[in-house]
Amino acid sequence: MKRKDFIKSALLISGGLFFQRNQLLAYIKEDSFTFKELRSGIGFYTNSGGTIGWMVHDDGVVVIDSQFPDTAEVFENLLKKKSSGKIDILFNTHHHRDHTAGNSYLSTYSKSIVANSNCVRLQKTRNVGKELDKNKVYANNIFDKNWSTNLGKEKLFAYHFGPAHTGGDSIFHFVNSNIVHMGDLVFNRVYPWVNKDDEASLSGWIKYLDDAINHFDNDSIFIFGHSYTPEKVHGNKNDLRFMRNYIEALLSLVKREKKNGKKNEEILETESIPEFKSMKALWKGALQANIKAALIELANS
Ligand SMILES: [Zn+2]
Repeated sequence: MKRKDFIKSALLISGGLFFQRNQLLAYIKEDSFTFKELRSGIGFYTNSGGTIGWMVHDDGVVVIDSQFPDTAEVFENLLKKKSSGKIDILFNTHHHRDHTAGNSYLSTYSKSIVANSNCVRLQKTRNVGKELDKNKVYANNIFDKNWSTNLGKEKLFAYHFGPAHTGGDSIFHFVNSNIVHMGDLVFNRVYPWVNKDDEASLSGWIKYLDDAINHFDNDSIFIFGHSYTPEKVHGNKNDLRFMRNYIEALLSLVKREKKNGKKNEEILETESIPEFKSMKALWKGALQANIKAALIELANS
């Protein structure tokens, strides 16, 4: 077992008593992250929660998503090795706390925080109840459909194509370098998080990915919100197609089983989706939650 997995298991078993909090933080700071450049000063950072995208150029620094306050601190310290540490634009792809809770840490260094209006609305109404939610920091530069700006030699563009993983997802394009942060529109080769209370739409998700597949080209590098390993948090259009086809297969399976007269409880016992047996689960009951969302969506359509 890798050290990281061992510590995670020990924490689960002991409820955290096995390791003191500061020991755990020291561990996180040392060796559990990946900070990697993809091309032309743009890269990604994984630690805990959604993948952070970053751009460090002489004439501008951009950060996409913020994870949690403690992992955002580790990230900021890495950023300071490459730059002054100041962030010109911090962007939130959607409201989930593993993408926005770190705003509270990074806002000190950020000139502007940008997000879709539905992202901010859902961040205010949905992320409630945990300790992390007490110091929520929201975007101060809000858009509805598209947002764009030039920063030094790079052109930046963000799109909101409608409801998908949540009601307020954006994808972010470094246009000149042709790198796209997909937020949680792609859980690469793992079952996605789908919760209808976040205004998720599976049919919207398919359309959103179709739009992205049509919009970007074969040279585009994509950064994904989640995967099983850091190596798989970036990829190409084939990964977008795989995700799109999984959601379509999920909806078709549930539709077919309903048509065959199966009860919801029986459908929820499904162990895998045909053609997608290779999908991994990042948490227990991941497929069942996907099926549940599909059942709710089909009942309301
Ligand atoms: Zn998410």
